[in-house]
Parts: sequence; C-alpha cells; structure tokens
Amino acid sequence: MAGRLDLDGKPIKAMKICMIGAGGFIGSHLCEKLMAETDHEVVAVDVYNDKIRHLLEPPGQHPWSNRISFHRLNIKHDPRLEGLIKSSDLTINLAAICTPADYNTRPLDTIYSNFIDALPVVKYCSENQKRLIHFSTCEVYGKTIGSFLPKDHPLRQEPEFYVLKEDASPCIFGSIEKQRWSYACAKQLIERLIYAEGAENGLEFTIVRPFNWIGPRMDFIPGIDGPSEGVPRVLACFSNNLLRREPLKLVDGGQSQRTFVYIKDAIEAVLLMIDNPARANSHIFNVGNPNNEVTVRQLGEMMTEVYSKVSGEPALEVPTIDVSSKEFYGEGYDDSDKRIPDMTIINKQLGWNPKTSLWDLLESTLTYQHRTYAEAIKKSIAMPVAT
Ligand code: NAD
Ligand code: UDP
Repeated sequence: MAGRLDLDGKPIKAMKICMIGAGGFIGSHLCEKLMAETDHEVVAVDVYNDKIRHLLEPPGQHPWSNRISFHRLNIKHDPRLEGLIKSSDLTINLAAICTPADYNTRPLDTIYSNFIDALPVVKYCSENQKRLIHFSTCEVYGKTIGSFLPKDHPLRQEPEFYVLKEDASPCIFGSIEKQRWSYACAKQLIERLIYAEGAENGLEFTIVRPFNWIGPRMDFIPGIDGPSEGVPRVLACFSNNLLRREPLKLVDGGQSQRTFVYIKDAIEAVLLMIDNPARANSHIFNVGNPNNEVTVRQLGEMMTEVYSKVSGEPALEVPTIDVSSKEFYGEGYDDSDKRIPDMTIINKQLGWNPKTSLWDLLESTLTYQHRTYAEAIKKSIAMPVAT
C-alpha cells in the first residue's frame, strides 16, 4: 500500500493497469493481489468474470471497489480495446486458448487466439508508447535436446541437455502433423514480434514464460462449472477424477515430467515485474519451481495421497489407469518430455525464488477443490439420468 518501495528503494507510484484475460485463473489471483496489497488500479478485460466476481461485488462495498472495473469484451473484435490500452500505464495480456486438449483439436482457434488476437494489443502498446507484460509459455521450448538421445545415454544427465534457459535454449517442436505444437509456435511468433517491436520501435516489454502454475480456480470441473465433455489441464482432470472416485488417467503411462509452482508464489514474481520496470523491461522470464519436479504418474500418486488426507476418504484400490494419448486427446497430440526452468535471469533481475513445496501446494489446492466441489459432485451423481 502507501509507502511501498521498489527493489532499488524508490517509492512505487500507483498505476493504471489494463489486464486482458483478468477473469481467468492467473488473472483472478493477480487481481486479488493488486487489490489487497497495492494502490494500483485495474481495468479488467475478459469475456467472463466469474473468477473475480468476489472482487467486483457487491459494488462499492470493498476497500478497493473504486480501483477495479470490469469490461466485458472480446478482444477479437472490439473497438474499445485501443482506448482502454491508451488510458492505462501498463497492459498485461493473459488472454489465450491455453488448454492442450484444444491445440490439436482446434488448431485454428488456438493459432488465432495466441497470435492474431494478440497482434492489436502489441500494436496499440507500441504506437502509444505503453508498457506491455505479455504472457507466453514454457511450451515455447518444446522438447529437450536430451529427449533425442537414447534413453540411457549419459549426456541426458547433463543440465545443458534439459535445463531450459531463456537466452540460450532452442525451441524444438514436432512436425506440422503434430498439431499439439500449434500453441507453442503461435506463442513463439508473438514473442518474436514483441521482441522486434522492442528492438526496432522501442516498445517497453516483459515476456513471462509460466512453467505449470497451479492452484485454486484453475480451469473447471467438467459437468460442474464447465462442459461435461471438456478436458481441462492436468490439475483439474485429476481433481475431477478424485472428486468422482474414478481412477486418474495417465496419458501414455504418465512418464512426462513437469515442475509445478504454486500460483501464489508465481504471482509474487509478476508483482515484482509490475513494480520494477527498469529491471523487468526487455527481459523474458522463466517463472517456475525447479525443485518441484515429478513425472505425471508421481503427481497422480501424490494427489491421491493428499486428497485422501484432506477429504478423509480412503484412496481407490486401483488409483490410476493408463490411456493412450490418441484415445485421450485425439490425433496430432504430442508432449513436452521435461521442463526444468533455469532461474538465473529472474533471480538476478528481481531476486525472486519460489517457496512452496509440491506437497504443500497440493494440500491447499485440494482442500479448496474438496470444499468447492464435493457437494456439487455428490448432487450431480445422485440426479437421475434423463432417458
Ligand atoms: P485461463 O484460460 O484461465 O485465462 C485466460 C483468460 O483469457 C480467460 O478468462 C478467457 O476468458 C480470456 N480470454 C481468452 N480469449 C479472450 C478474448 N478473445 N477476449 C477476451 N478475453 C479472452 O488461463 P491462465 O492459466 O490464466 O493463463 C493465462 C496466460 O498464461 C495465457 O496466455 C497462457 O497461455 C499463459 N500460461 C499459463 C500457464 C499456467 O500454468 N497456468 C502456463 C503457460 C502459459
Ligand atoms: N495428463 C494426464 N492425464 C490427464 C491430463 C493430463 O496424464 O488427465 C498429462 C498430459 O499428457 C501432460 C501432463 O499431464 O503430459 C500435463 O498436462 P497439462 O494439460 O497440465 O498441460 P501441459 O503441461 O502439457 O501444458
């Protein structure tokens, strides 16, 4: 609040932030943080606002009510967007289709959302000399170099073959028929465009590459607050299975590896970027937790154990089953094998480090999932099926 200092000891001035995609998972946590701990104003742009309704309603009743406004608009085709960017000091773009189940089944929508729809945002920021924080993805790295070596090759153990560095690692995607990479490729191209706007036209930008941020309000539970046939990201898929007492589905044996970071840790990193433009501008930042690496199978096992603890329900006798990626995601799916973020740049520029262990973040997240959804699931299961 008043009296907050940046990393160089200077007072932080309140700014107006145009946050596009503010109604999503990351946006909702960022809005909460900005309202509770800063004097910044948020112009929240999205087509939905369910995840930030608690910050908006009842109108005028919160200490921050005059610092947040919601603008329901689709950035694909809305002339109001330029005015909102022009009247703000900073734009944060979170809007995207970003669930892997869409990448190979809706590749056109995925490419349009992640590249074409982001273009005017970059253009308006550049033309009006406004700062931009753009959300990209760790998926721009694609597969690791090590994944092309034989399985037990000793070089696979060498960090150069798997640790992902913003300024050194190549981007390695599969063939065009593997439409999984439509998202990564679109995100890579918008990163290159933003970088070029910085180099040629002086755009002040920061690019964020999230590495599997997870926590409450991520995605949806199919059949409860999202479509029954929808396939969200792994946290929500496994939560849904646990809530319904079904085995967790391990795609292609659950051998892929991921590092998971708690949303609240990651949001601290974003706030440092917002408050320290001189340190954050012109940088691309990995934001993840290299200490929280597991295979998807290990994630499933840990979630089963944690859920049993927080719900008081015994785990299933057969807690997981294997499914092929073709069966689960359809034709054209492919996977990132391993994602360890190098933390040198974010550490040097912003002094940020993640704090929360995988067990602790799953415990708080699954407590939330149980509290929020268990009753609704019970009711939906008890309802007679229409014939
Ligand atoms: P999310 O789907 O919860 O949020 C995205 C929001 O953007 C949604 O509320 C959606 O309604 C909105 N949106 C999409 N298209 C829009 C449009 N045309 N007009 C207006 N609003 C629109 O996703 P998230 O997890 O919060 O991710 C936010 C950003 O971070 C995305 O760019 C995503 O690619 C990136 N990212 C997130 C993760 C992660 O771990 N959560 C990982 C990698 C990248
Ligand atoms: N996955 C799985 N079962 C599920 C959902 C996802 O085994 O029910 C796997 C998926 O194949 C991938 C990993 O979990 O290897 C992470 O998937 P997510 O959708 O969270 O996104 P990603 O990290 O691939 O971007």
